[in-house]
Amino acid sequence: MGDAKRRRAEIARLKALSPEQRQEREDEACLQKGIDPKKAFTDSGDILAMARRLHAHFEQAKATRNIDVAVQYLLQKVDGSVYSLRDIPIACGKGCSHCCTAWVSVSAPEALYLAKLITAMGQAAMDRVRAVHAATREIEFEVRIQHPHDCPMLQDNLCTIYENRPKSCRQAVSGDSNACARAFRNITNETIPTPVMYAGTRAMYSAALYAALSRSALETGAYEFSAAITRVLDTPDAERRWLEGEDIFNGVLRERTSSSDFTNQVDFVRSEAFGN
Ligand code: SF4
Repeated sequence: MGDAKRRRAEIARLKALSPEQRQEREDEACLQKGIDPKKAFTDSGDILAMARRLHAHFEQAKATRNIDVAVQYLLQKVDGSVYSLRDIPIACGKGCSHCCTAWVSVSAPEALYLAKLITAMGQAAMDRVRAVHAATREIEFEVRIQHPHDCPMLQDNLCTIYENRPKSCRQAVSGDSNACARAFRNITNETIPTPVMYAGTRAMYSAALYAALSRSALETGAYEFSAAITRVLDTPDAERRWLEGEDIFNGVLRERTSSSDFTNQVDFVRSEAFGN
């Protein structure tokens, strides 16, 4: 087929697409490398596209009763966005794990996905999660930094689920590892110097994720890692029940993210991405 003929065939194919299929194509085209954080500070297009794609993945997860593809999609796109910020100097590196002693946030889909992975790792991994949950179950988000405790997935200062670690871990960066050592070991209460572009990326993905979950009538929330994984391990048929709309994470320790600014961002993304 010649070039002209191929172009005509492509145009005919595009014309045959439904508006939803066209939107999906456009969204995937702009999200090839995840949300572009530098662009998204002034143009919310990528964030809205991410909300729509995540929503489509959650609907697919409800149909298949399997959350894996949705979570893998989210984590892969977060990695793309973080990679795009590689020119911004940060102090983080292999073997530096001060932040792995603090509160680790995980969304419900990630907890369901990771609980399967941790189960496959074996009894010792599950026992470590339960032990950390037992030791930290009473410690609220606001004061957790005063009670350092290793994440159950941390072994010899390395993450044993690195490729599948939660999005919050992928987006937790610092410009000063000495400040992390002091703050996360509860020596000082200084603020971790996080480059603004990284902090913004975290907020962008959270807004897109929450808008997509709420549009799919699924529970939103940022739960404490060990508490959420333990709840999944202790709940028969957890994945199916959550995907059917049951709030299986009810009562699990959670981060309070309901600042009016954040709620407004989620409402904005939901209304602009889905029209309601
Ligand atoms: S999941 Fe991995 S990266 Fe995240 S806090 Fe635990 S050990 Fe650290």
